[in-house]
Amino acid sequence: MGFNIAIDGPAGAGKSTIARQVAKKLNFIYIDTGAMYRAMGVYFTRNQTDLADEEAVKKVCDTVEIKLTYEQGVQLIWLNGENVSEVIRTKEAGNMASACAAVPVVREKLVELQKKLAQTSDIVMDGRDIGTVVLPEADVKVYLTASVDVRAERRFKEYQEKGLTAVLEDVKKEVAQRDYNDMHRAVSPLCQAEDAVLVDTSDMNIDQAADAILKLVNTCR
Ligand code: C5P
Repeated sequence: MGFNIAIDGPAGAGKSTIARQVAKKLNFIYIDTGAMYRAMGVYFTRNQTDLADEEAVKKVCDTVEIKLTYEQGVQLIWLNGENVSEVIRTKEAGNMASACAAVPVVREKLVELQKKLAQTSDIVMDGRDIGTVVLPEADVKVYLTASVDVRAERRFKEYQEKGLTAVLEDVKKEVAQRDYNDMHRAVSPLCQAEDAVLVDTSDMNIDQAADAILKLVNTCR
């Protein structure tokens, strides 16, 4: 078993950027589990799969291949052999990820894959259920959050940087809706694990948040 760092929290808390930085500093592998749900969401959208059709969803889960590879430390995500690392970063893919993440059979498939990835390597894994379900025995658990306003502003800036049109008020609503969906679904809802340390990044920059996590890691190694 490698050394496992689990980082959970709502959308826009800075999880992926901070987790990536922590992984780089420690020379660990960074695993972005949201990317896996996004890739599944892209597949379901393209194939117009009805998420309420349990049999159809199960069939997809039995056959679809989701793979992660790394190029110079950057995670690439593959859907049936296609590199979907960029395609998954749209608002629609995020919403579809959230919808398919509420389906138990989808979670079963991805959680199994995530557990396997954590077995052999030192990893930083981020998501919504890493400390609670995927890696309950993780060496370090962090619940990373920030206020809805701060998270919406960060998402808004990201969209702008990508040249996507967005309205701040709409992004705020989207963030709040995604929080609600992730926190209220029946399976593996987003919540802070009892033994996770809360890190609120509302008034922190990336370096400060990463340093806070690295300090925690140092106390546990
Ligand atoms: O983190 P990201 O925004 O890419 O995640 C997209 C969606 O995937 C989340 O809103 C959440 O519904 C789902 N997800 C999840 N469990 C994870 C990672 C992501 O349910 N471990």
